[in-house]
Amino acid sequence: QGMSKPKPITRLPPLPSTKELLRLYNVRATKALSQNFLLDPKLTNKFVSKAGNIRDAYVCEVGPGPGNITRSILNHCPQHVIVIEKDTRFMPALSLLQDASKGRMSVVFGDVLNFEMGMLFPKECKKSWDDECPPIHLVGNLPFSISLPLIIKWLKAISERSSVWKYGRAKMTLTFQEEVAIRMTVPAGHEERCRLSLMCQNWCEVEHKFTIPGSAFYPKPRVNVGVVTLTPRISPLVPLNFPIVEKVLRHLFNTKNKMCKNPLKKLFPLSKREELTAKLMTVADVDPTITPVNLTMEELHRLTMAYDCILEQYPSLRSYDNRDKKNNEATGLFDEIPPPISLQK
Ligand code: SAM
Repeated sequence: QGMSKPKPITRLPPLPSTKELLRLYNVRATKALSQNFLLDPKLTNKFVSKAGNIRDAYVCEVGPGPGNITRSILNHCPQHVIVIEKDTRFMPALSLLQDASKGRMSVVFGDVLNFEMGMLFPKECKKSWDDECPPIHLVGNLPFSISLPLIIKWLKAISERSSVWKYGRAKMTLTFQEEVAIRMTVPAGHEERCRLSLMCQNWCEVEHKFTIPGSAFYPKPRVNVGVVTLTPRISPLVPLNFPIVEKVLRHLFNTKNKMCKNPLKKLFPLSKREELTAKLMTVADVDPTITPVNLTMEELHRLTMAYDCILEQYPSLRSYDNRDKKNNEATGLFDEIPPPISLQK
């Protein structure tokens, strides 16, 4: 269901409001799908304008619901909009909007977490990675229940330049619970700094654009909502593959307020723990007593590089996972690890 043919630019004709449509089709918000609707057109327009200039661009919206944000997108005159929605109860409202859009909108019913997005856009949109961003925008008032797994999945795809990011550094403008939006953007030293902050900031520039009060949604969630734009970086700050950066961060933030050498020890099997942790901190030239929240991206870079060097020396450590006792015993890593490669015959 590609979207290739350029269409003339038109604004939408008058339509019943999405509030009226929800009433007409008797659609009530479902908690299991984290449905909180943003029905005020002023706010949906503000949300869309924060995505940047989408005129003539290709937009993919996650979770359109009855299509309230979709209407604002269409009124910003994009080339084409594709929406991905899990709940088929929105079929009539989205079909109505699709007809009104005069061919500028496609609707996909499915789960965005399993949806292959690598073929959605025409080839002409493609830009090379170190060029400007392609005219492709991902937007969505994301359901709270999937916002975290989705952003982690997308960061991984960005790191691999796969999925949508085959087309270049496509931007995302998405909603998160305000506290999550804050965590995504805070710098080193901030008490909210966590694994997610460093993951997001490693692969993207992250901007917290504005806050939508919970009271603007129907039904009203218990929290406020933050609108965040993520722009993939040309070069990640830690230029290593996703699993290794993720593994180091997962260990580091296992216990947030301890000196970072303590959680990092668990990267290594017991028998080599003290020796290799000391080596890691010395090679990385990072103060072993620093707490993870104070760690800068530069220090994370040095730590991950040093860990990667240790893995080069002891390849069997790649599969070491301190939580997986069975696997460690099976691979002989629980007690002993083989000597470094340089000493092996
Ligand atoms: N865009 C509408 C708005 O702003 O009022 C609805 C937003 S509501 C917070 C989230 C939407 O995402 C709902 O329509 C819900 O059905 C949909 N949704 C939930 N899980 C989904 C998934 N895994 N894939 C696609 N859509 C999903």
